[in-house]
Amino acid sequence: MPKAYCHCCRRETPQKVVMKRSQPAHGSVLQTVQNIVSVVFQGGHYVQMEKQSYCRVCNSRTELTDADFSSAKVI
Ligand SMILES: [Zn+2]
Repeated sequence: MPKAYCHCCRRETPQKVVMKRSQPAHGSVLQTVQNIVSVVFQGGHYVQMEKQSYCRVCNSRTELTDADFSSAKVI
């Protein structure tokens, strides 16, 4: 089970790793239009996914690094 430092628990805790759709940081109308256009041009099936990790103790999101989670099992 992957472990990472949780700022909430202030120690290393077991992590749950999931794949989630990447969300734009600021969801403006212009960005939404640009996303739709890019999806159309990329074939309509492209969804950007990213790994996210959550502390199993307090369920808060934790920092994710490729080094820590390269062998993590994705749920
Ligand atoms: Zn925690």
